[in-house]
Amino acid sequence: MAAIIIPSSLETAQPTEVVRWAAEAFGADNLVVTASFEDAVLVHVAATAVPGIEITLLDTQYLFAETQWLVDELTKRLDLHLRIVRPSAEVVPDNRWQADIEGCCQVRKVEPLARAIAGKQAWITGVRRADGPTRAGAPVAAYDIGRGLVKVNPLATLTDDDMALYAQLHELPSHPLADKGYASIGCWPCTRPVAPGEDKRAGRWSGNAKTECGLHV
Ligand code: SF4
Repeated sequence: MAAIIIPSSLETAQPTEVVRWAAEAFGADNLVVTASFEDAVLVHVAATAVPGIEITLLDTQYLFAETQWLVDELTKRLDLHLRIVRPSAEVVPDNRWQADIEGCCQVRKVEPLARAIAGKQAWITGVRRADGPTRAGAPVAAYDIGRGLVKVNPLATLTDDDMALYAQLHELPSHPLADKGYASIGCWPCTRPVAPGEDKRAGRWSGNAKTECGLHV
């Protein structure tokens, strides 16, 4: 990959401008956009900035039915070019999440992501600083040494209010569980609603020290 200079101006750029910069700097075919579909903002930003851009969903086999509903709704509404990446063929629904969450995330998230980004030059994610303390220092764009590509977080600087306003302005559907106290939404076995005042990611792997699935570390 030719040396890419990451402009400092990205820090104050609009999310669509960040995605456009990435598409111009690397080429749309060299990008991977991964979306968890816990909300509609990232996919709307990406599909607006670069119409037809591929959006990747990591299907762990444990997505909420409500998440699948939002995937279908947005795919129709935004005419998304959706790519679904699944675990390897030998990985089937099992009880591993009850006793070995690291191993379960490894085969259902980390390994499929590695396949999804193999050979790509940049990875666009929905990570935000407001997600919680482990993400408070997330850059808008930076070289990810471990993965050998540039990780781009176009929503990094957006607050929760910014997200709500963006969704409202663009009349985007919300995740059906968002109004039921689910502040961060992943796999159904490892996600619970949070109480008022609780950290947003407290509902993920509740009762365990784990706070990240291994994708954003
Ligand atoms: S979040 Fe839970 S169910 Fe999903 S891959 Fe990780 S351990 Fe398995």
